[in-house]
Amino acid sequence: MPRQFFVGGNFKMNGTIKSIKDIVNNLNQAKLDPNTEVVIAPSSLYLLLTRENLRKGIEVAAQNVYDKPNGAFTGELSVEQLKDSGITWTLIGHSERRVILQEDDSFVANKTKAAIDGGLGVILCCGESLEQREAGKTNEVVINQLKAVHSQVKDWSKIVIAYEPIWAIGTGKVATTEQAQEVHVAIREWLKTDLSAEAADNTRVIYGGSVSEKNCVELAKQDDIDGFLVGGASLKPAFVDIVNAKQ
Ligand code: PEP
Repeated sequence: MPRQFFVGGNFKMNGTIKSIKDIVNNLNQAKLDPNTEVVIAPSSLYLLLTRENLRKGIEVAAQNVYDKPNGAFTGELSVEQLKDSGITWTLIGHSERRVILQEDDSFVANKTKAAIDGGLGVILCCGESLEQREAGKTNEVVINQLKAVHSQVKDWSKIVIAYEPIWAIGTGKVATTEQAQEVHVAIREWLKTDLSAEAADNTRVIYGGSVSEKNCVELAKQDDIDGFLVGGASLKPAFVDIVNAKQ
């Protein structure tokens, strides 16, 4: 069975009640490719508002989750709390959290384990810095990030891997189709070697980094690009064109 195209929208720390409602209304009325799975991730304050107003068939993701079930963890959200609010996905390991908030590979792995054990889908982000790319270390960095998660999580059926080169995030500098495809192939080879041929065939590997309505169609033609994680453009009406990139 072909892998279902997947488009996630990461709103980051953007939006107000009014602008989130506008985005949700726009998606509710849009003609979206029925073959694309769509998940949007507003900031935590607006998760419930989004879930309550968004049409069925589009899922909502948190941008982060904590690895403990409950307790004295000020400012954090648990897997159970997300599920209780109808939130079925979470992003984990976004480079902004890895770099700015200094989340390391083992914390990312613990959170992924908690989310998967609790039944959430996980958009697991990985990617290299410009320095690492220029040093020829891209595949090594990305595969090591994934290996850290694999040391804790054996079932990857609810994980979507988002390859997001850090130098392409929010910069307008998109990876070329060849650069993206090359890393996606390396990820798939790793899946085959360390997990299984089935995991390599079935796991969606999506690309993120300055995806727009202008570059999405070319990127979507690559055999190993199974969708996108979209930041800035997910706040705009053009997000609909990205969802429909395969049509
Ligand atoms: C992201 O935040 O995951 C992202 C890819 O951002 P942008 O599309 O703005 O580069």
